[in-house]
Amino acid sequence: MSDETPICSAKGCRADAVWVLAWNNPKIHAPERRKTWLACEEHREHLSQFLGVRGFLKDVVPLTEWTSREDSGGLSGGQV
Ligand SMILES: [Zn+2]
Repeated sequence: MSDETPICSAKGCRADAVWVLAWNNPKIHAPERRKTWLACEEHREHLSQFLGVRGFLKDVVPLTEWTSREDSGGLSGGQV
């Protein structure tokens, strides 16, 4: 386990991430590929909508659940 706390992907936000948004852009990603954004409680809806209106959003799962998945493939993180 890493002791580094994942941070929300929303621009300028330094809050601890609670949610993982799994998404895929069919124009540039293979269908099974999953990009991930992290979100705090406050930004989950905002980021979900951003991805949702573009048809990119595939899954929103609690961070604890995501990290317990064996095939999570790690978190890309990064700022939006
Ligand atoms: Zn946030």
